[in-house]
Amino acid sequence: MKISGRTQIVGIIGDPVAHSLSPAMHNAAFRVLELDFVYVPFHVRPALLRAAVAGLRALGAAGVNVTVPHKERVMAFLDSVSETGRRAGAVNTVVNRDGQLHGENTDVTGFLRALGEVKFRVRGARVLIIGAGGSARAVLTALAEGHAAAVTIANRTVRRARQLARSFGPTGMHLSATGLQSLTDARLLAAVDLVVNTTSVGLRGEQFFPLAYAATRRNCLFFDLVYGRATAFLTAAGRASRRTVDGTSMLLHQGAAAFTLWTGRRAPLAVMRRALRAGTPIQN
Ligand code: NAP
Repeated sequence: MKISGRTQIVGIIGDPVAHSLSPAMHNAAFRVLELDFVYVPFHVRPALLRAAVAGLRALGAAGVNVTVPHKERVMAFLDSVSETGRRAGAVNTVVNRDGQLHGENTDVTGFLRALGEVKFRVRGARVLIIGAGGSARAVLTALAEGHAAAVTIANRTVRRARQLARSFGPTGMHLSATGLQSLTDARLLAAVDLVVNTTSVGLRGEQFFPLAYAATRRNCLFFDLVYGRATAFLTAAGRASRRTVDGTSMLLHQGAAAFTLWTGRRAPLAVMRRALRAGTPIQN
């Protein structure tokens, strides 16, 4: 990769950030399209987030990805945030438009594109989301944009699941909140088309919660946001002969959408996917 006098800077701000796969994925894409861009990791502590965003402005960076724990707080330092970002309550991509910093949430797009890739029809779907954190909110936003029919949010802390459902306002979807014991409720499981794990359980090889896999319909899809390893959640779904999608697909598509926002070019998906597979994943 050659750095010239015109090289444009993009990157990722997070804490931690050292294990991110995004630099490898984006730099591979820049190389293959011969774009004069470079993608670098920036380890930014929470206390310095405002200064870091001011620095991006001062240096004229083309944009950044934003990861944990800054996705929510960063919005306050931007000039504008997309409707999707506002709904998701978080921004994972910043684009510098002639000095104006605009926030987008490509996790939402990434999730929908990952479903599109396996031809899952979101419109009218009944969905079970496990977890009620930041990524559950992004998934819920995507399901609302895709016109799902009904979503049940199951979380260890039921209060958080209720808060998430309530904070969402009118969506056209039927929303309900429950605890993790519902994952063994055969009637509930038999009524869903998609089960999404948005918790980090599985990231370190842990066992998953008891779940009535066999009670689901044959064509029920299991989607894990955790990526880079065979999780107990997807392994058990596979054993029950259900279709599965792992988090790498969402990571790829959120990256591809950010790439297009920064460069105006279509993302070279095959190259980016290869770079992701070659990496050692821990977080995005
Ligand atoms: P978060 O905001 O911290 O939320 C974590 C959720 O997991 C909460 O609902 C929490 O339940 C639950 N949880 C955590 N540990 C648990 C345990 N031991 N038992 C039961 N529940 C537990 O995290 P997040 O930002 O949503 O991220 C979650 C995961 O999604 C991470 O692994 C992240 O890497 C992944 N992710 C992937 C992509 C992708 O592109 N593939 C994008 C975004 C995020 P309580 O409310 O009860 O604490």
